[in-house]
Amino acid sequence: MAKKSIKKIGVLTSGGDSPGMNTAIRAVVRACSYYNIQCIGIKEGYHGLINNDMSELGPRSVKHIINRGGTFLKTARSQEFRTPEGRKKAFENFKLNELDALVVIGGDGSFTGASVFHKEFEVPFIGIPGTIDNDIFGTDATIGYDTALNTVIEAIDRIRDSATSHNRVFFVEVMGRDAGFIALNSGIASGAQDILIPEKKDSLEELLQTLERSQQAGKNSSIIVVAEGEELGNVYDLAKATQKKFPEYDIRVTVLGHIQRGGSPTCQDRVLASRLGVAAVEAILEGKSNLMAGLRSNKVVYTPIEEAIKKHNQIDEELIKVAKILAI
Ligand code: ATP
Repeated sequence: MAKKSIKKIGVLTSGGDSPGMNTAIRAVVRACSYYNIQCIGIKEGYHGLINNDMSELGPRSVKHIINRGGTFLKTARSQEFRTPEGRKKAFENFKLNELDALVVIGGDGSFTGASVFHKEFEVPFIGIPGTIDNDIFGTDATIGYDTALNTVIEAIDRIRDSATSHNRVFFVEVMGRDAGFIALNSGIASGAQDILIPEKKDSLEELLQTLERSQQAGKNSSIIVVAEGEELGNVYDLAKATQKKFPEYDIRVTVLGHIQRGGSPTCQDRVLASRLGVAAVEAILEGKSNLMAGLRSNKVVYTPIEEAIKKHNQIDEELIKVAKILAI
């Protein structure tokens, strides 16, 4: 049963888009309807709150979006919300629309915004982690991460066809910002010769030795997966340095870019988004706030937002070992 004080909540998507955000919005809207409270969809993240761009959503407003990538509410990076004046306008519209709480679907930046807003105006909120980077503490996976991984391995499988046909070395850059989760897991799943991630101290010498070993082992082609946040250098610099050492290699670079953000969410992302959408609404109805709903060991857990923002998920050393062993 809904607590009397909560009658209407707003939902928004903010920061970078990720596949499964639509599924999460659908879950929030339908859970609200199930618990007999109103749900207001806020357009373009905090921008819509500042500009009063929002409308009521019912269960049928979110039909046929469970399988669609992106976010139909649209997302934005609102500079104005970073200012006290912008947040004041946002709060005026929050009151004008008689909202009682917010569900914020986004990354750590979006959660920081919600946390500041809460401190200033005591607006209750629950965060749902929506980002492909999987860099948020308090959940085993973020919404969109699994879909991005599957997009990456499909792309690398295609690149491998070309690499083996031409005896080429491919450097493939994948997204993840400062985190190497996408690179490490997609690298293992696609049989990369080496995986360079910011969490591990890499050296050019080691990379070159790995390639030398692979040549000696009779391999005619190799895939090197490089996280966009790799500290040793960007994918072009690494390819250049390798070419210098091995002029005989046919080296190519592929930056996968935004294809990693789009596409129909995988089953895992849809189930995750559905569970966290319901969990967020239930938490609000129980009077909870300043928490992020996440999934750990397949159970819904709520993490204080400050921890979700400040702490980081650690890279599993075992995965690094597995990648190394299998590249023999
Ligand atoms: P992604 O991980 O995909 O980049 P994100 O949620 O981290 O997503 P950001 O651009 O960092 O994306 O943040 C989204 C929005 O949250 C910002 O555009 C801004 O409106 C708001 N925001 C972020 N940090 C703050 C802050 N310190 N104060 C107020 N608002 C903030």
